[in-house]
Amino acid sequence: MNQRIGIGYDVHKLEKNANLIIGGVKIKSEYGCISHSDGDALTHAVIDAILGACGKKDIGYYFPPTDEKYKNINSLKLLEKTLNIITDFQIINIDCIVVLQSPSLSPYRERIQESLANSCKILKEKINIKFKTEEFLGFTGNMQGIKAIAICLVEKKYSQKIEILPPATP
Ligand SMILES: [Zn+2]
Repeated sequence: MNQRIGIGYDVHKLEKNANLIIGGVKIKSEYGCISHSDGDALTHAVIDAILGACGKKDIGYYFPPTDEKYKNINSLKLLEKTLNIITDFQIINIDCIVVLQSPSLSPYRERIQESLANSCKILKEKINIKFKTEEFLGFTGNMQGIKAIAICLVEKKYSQKIEILPPATP
């Protein structure tokens, strides 16, 4: 069995007058994320789903938030670096959910899909993104935070090594 599945989840705190970046795309919004990195919860969830599928721990293990090197880093760069960690696998598809009360993200769907697909080096059709609100309930409902969930299916690449069997003895 060469297929494996992984899940990722992330939350970031929202504050007024900060940048809101989702899947590498800047969103026009009154609220944005305050974070060590660029606060891109969707990209972080996608990274964790990919790492999880490949049995490679989590985002904090490779890119610790305490490391100054990753301060304000574009999270798509982290996603690109993640591909160097999972070279034995290829991504089959990724499905994700972004939970944000407002603004509506559907006008950005294509751009977010393209942005993530480019960084994952896969076709846009292999990434699906769903946008949800939690109907004014909880921390997403009152705009305290944004939440993202991702799931990823990968397949182990076949080894190119050809086994040469000894000639059969009669
Ligand atoms: Zn994050």
